[in-house]
Amino acid sequence: MENVIKTGETVSEGGVYYCTNCGQQIELKAGDTVPPCPKCTNNGFTKTDQHENRF
Ligand SMILES: [Zn+2]
Repeated sequence: MENVIKTGETVSEGGVYYCTNCGQQIELKAGDTVPPCPKCTNNGFTKTDQHENRF
């Protein structure tokens, strides 16, 4: 199961998240508020253990 988290939401689990648009990696800690993608300003991220391009 893969959750998409959005900018402004609070992450419940720390780790590396990937922009759903460009694949940019951001590292967040539990309780952090999700920023917009620093690369493309997209507002959606997924947390995956490995980078994959699935659109
Ligand atoms: Zn992006």
